[in-house]
Amino acid sequence: MKKDNSAKQSLTKNQSLVLQALAEADQPLGAYELLNRLQPSGFKAPLQVYRALDQLVEKGLVHRLESLNAWTACCEDQHSYTPVFAICDDCGNVTEHFDEQLAGNIEKVTKRSGFTPDRSIIEIHGQCDDCGTITQS
Ligand SMILES: [Zn+2]
Ligand SMILES: [Zn+2]
Repeated sequence: MKKDNSAKQSLTKNQSLVLQALAEADQPLGAYELLNRLQPSGFKAPLQVYRALDQLVEKGLVHRLESLNAWTACCEDQHSYTPVFAICDDCGNVTEHFDEQLAGNIEKVTKRSGFTPDRSIIEIHGQCDDCGTITQS
């Protein structure tokens, strides 16, 4: 996959709008939530949102959180590591982390089995620091 730094410059208008909406949101957004926010900017159909999201994911600027069926802007410009997302089930807060060792191990596992990974995302569900301490009894 191409990881050139010009990814952001080569965005179409729709892609930039979607990326901006995700960057401004505190939490990952679903396609319909995105469509709602982008309607004033001229988006009319979910397909437009999906198309832009697909391309942004391809460029590595956005991640899809499979378990939430939602998308989030990447926390940094381009990375080749597998990101680890900690998802709080109470407040919906999502944070992106990296672990070089973990990423390396995933690579080893896939290589060993002759599998060619296209993309991988690790999602951890639980309580964030704020929520975990409050609900403890
Ligand atoms: Zn990322
Ligand atoms: Zn929380």
